[in-house]
Amino acid sequence: MTFTNRTALVTGAGRGIGKAIAETLAAKGVTVICVSKSASSCGGVADAITAAGGKAVARAVDVADGAAVTAAAEELLKEFGKIDILINNAGITRDGLLARMSEDDWNTVLQTNLTSCFHWTKAIGWPMCRARYGRIINIASVSGLMGNAGQANYAAAKAGMLGFTKSVAKEFAKRGVTANVVAPGFIKTDMTAELSEEVVKGATAMIPMQRFGEPADIANMCAYLASEEAGYITGQVFTVDGGMVM
Ligand code: NAP
Repeated sequence: MTFTNRTALVTGAGRGIGKAIAETLAAKGVTVICVSKSASSCGGVADAITAAGGKAVARAVDVADGAAVTAAAEELLKEFGKIDILINNAGITRDGLLARMSEDDWNTVLQTNLTSCFHWTKAIGWPMCRARYGRIINIASVSGLMGNAGQANYAAAKAGMLGFTKSVAKEFAKRGVTANVVAPGFIKTDMTAELSEEVVKGATAMIPMQRFGEPADIANMCAYLASEEAGYITGQVFTVDGGMVM
């Protein structure tokens, strides 16, 4: 995989999948801007990458705050000159059956998972188009493909990311900027650590490989899609789920 003097911005890079993506890209020589909600989590990841000989900085940005995202993107573009790779990975769940789901649960999940992609992509995508190079990768979920009882808000947000990404892919294709979705199945992170033993058992039974994936499984797919070799792939959805959806 080739990365020639590339800079990536990874949201949700403080833990789990985003941390693995940041570390994987940094190990390939990419300068990584690690974004998370708390300064300590993205700061810890950026420090560890730097200590291992890579190049990384950290920025605490609440991705659910559109004005904060736009301001941070403008500042970072000035500081780094360009951002070649954007990975919208920050996400949250607020699960519950529809009858009990509050409007706040709905709005917060939509804003954090989906509207954040709109703000980051708008701010960073156009400079990519002007530079005639870019890779945008949005981390959705198999919930967005299949739906999931108790996740109407999350599944709607993740399904929305598919339509958003395909539209952006069509708008940006002529300018050398690709946009793709990676849809993970069950991956071992803090997000799935919250699941009850019963849910884990039921989920494992649905996975042909009979196990949850590792954050690195998602990071490796992202690294390929972010590389120069993936320049003819756009508007696609890649499930990485041990065969759960096929
Ligand atoms: P995680 O371990 O819970 O980590 C989430 C990361 O997102 C954290 O770094 C967190 O920041 C950041 N974040 C959350 N809200 C934010 C906000 N408002 N502003 C900025 N950063 C915010 O999650 P994960 O399991 O790695 O999931 C990563 C992505 O994969 C999510 O989009 C998730 O929906 C998707 N996904 C996960 C799975 C799975 O099985 N784990 C399956 C399908 C899809 P802090 O560190 O500061 O808290």
